[in-house]
Amino acid sequence: MTSKGIYKVTRKGVIMTTTLNGMTVPSWASHIEDKLAPMPLLLVQAYVDTLDRDLGTDIFAHADEARAWLADAGLRVPDPDQPEPNFPGFAEDLRLAREVRASLEALIGRDPGDEALTPDDLAPLEQVLRQVQPRLEVAADGQVRLGPDRPARTLPDGLLGLLLIVRDAQADGSWDRLKLCGNPDCRWAFYDRSHSRRGAWCDMASCGNRVKNRNLRARRAQLA
Ligand SMILES: [Zn+2]
Repeated sequence: MTSKGIYKVTRKGVIMTTTLNGMTVPSWASHIEDKLAPMPLLLVQAYVDTLDRDLGTDIFAHADEARAWLADAGLRVPDPDQPEPNFPGFAEDLRLAREVRASLEALIGRDPGDEALTPDDLAPLEQVLRQVQPRLEVAADGQVRLGPDRPARTLPDGLLGLLLIVRDAQADGSWDRLKLCGNPDCRWAFYDRSHSRRGAWCDMASCGNRVKNRNLRARRAQLA
């Protein structure tokens, strides 16, 4: 889904759209209404939130929609001079896209002190790393950068970029603010800007109260 808005191409080639509330968000994040992570971590949030359990929608459920979203997000931008892989080729990408999404969800959902991630949690990310390796480069401005080739021509290239965003967020501490909603039926990824960093719900009205009421009913049932 792409919301109506004003589009422009920025220096970095990101197509931005101005939403109704006046906040400027990239078109690939238009499915997130609030609690947005800062750039570039927003890309990881938008990727995980392609699955909306509350609405029962999944951008990766349909090949055409998935292909368009991945291209818009710069995660898979096939060379226009090369013919696109036909459907069986993209079906493989689609499987990887969904599995990596589940892995990222496991990474975000793991709190310090939780049990270690399982080999199953990590396998899709390891598959990405087997297929493409980061490249270290010294840019003309003297900055040492780690990154995939740009633009990401293949999905593993793009997903490597996503992993590097995770790594940078873990280094600067912003990763700890990216959380999954505490409602097990929701698990929407949101960015916790609260001072206490103890936000637990994507939205208090829709998830927080729902779970609290459910717990209250369960406790009352136990007491009855
Ligand atoms: Zn929620």
